[in-house]
Amino acid sequence: MADRSWSGDVSAHETVGAGAEDGFLPLSERRLTVLSGPSGVGKSTVVAELRRAHPEVWLSVSVTTRRPRPGEVHGVHYYFVDGDEFDRLVAAGELLEWAEFAGNRYGTPREPVLKKLAEGVPTLLEIDLEGARQVRRSMPEALLVFLAPPSWEELEKRLRGRGTEPEDVIARRLAAGRIEMAAESEFDLTLVNTSVQDVCRRLIALMTDPQGVTTTTNREV
Ligand code: 5GP
Repeated sequence: MADRSWSGDVSAHETVGAGAEDGFLPLSERRLTVLSGPSGVGKSTVVAELRRAHPEVWLSVSVTTRRPRPGEVHGVHYYFVDGDEFDRLVAAGELLEWAEFAGNRYGTPREPVLKKLAEGVPTLLEIDLEGARQVRRSMPEALLVFLAPPSWEELEKRLRGRGTEPEDVIARRLAAGRIEMAAESEFDLTLVNTSVQDVCRRLIALMTDPQGVTTTTNREV
């Protein structure tokens, strides 16, 4: 994987700034934003910073069968449920999307998302690639943002440095990461995570002020 520190923090695929005539809503009407990217890239740090600095954005809280990490709070970071409860939510159609990731299941509760969107509140989902694809199909007006690491080496370093997962889990997450990295072009836009503050600034601009997207360039690989 090529080093990306040269690329600035934003690159855009073809749909950025597109109008309704090409089948996509203008950015100003894309109230639902999906943030995705490989495990370890820093999505949850970005989300934590958004939560702190931008309470006007509503962050969906996912349901997961994964066990809580130290410091994670039920109802804040995730709703931690067992497999039976997850099965029930799927069967009842209560999840907008769901996917299995590295041996656990994760899903987005449907109703709160639809409610926030109906209220016109900028809404963010932080989900994996499979989930992003499902949202693309069911809500094509959503803006899909890919968070990329400055380099593959950096991603591996961050994943190991977290120190919360055993080696086999890290290996599964890295394998999933390679697949996620290969899917970058499916997203509307890529933000390279060189700085959490920059990524948050860009995300807020995208979600609340479409004019904030001014320095878009096509990604060079
Ligand atoms: P983690 O276990 O590190 O919190 O999350 C693992 C992966 O699951 C991350 O890529 C994260 O974005 C993804 N994820 C978290 N919540 C959801 C969700 O509701 N749906 C889907 N599809 N993926 C999720």
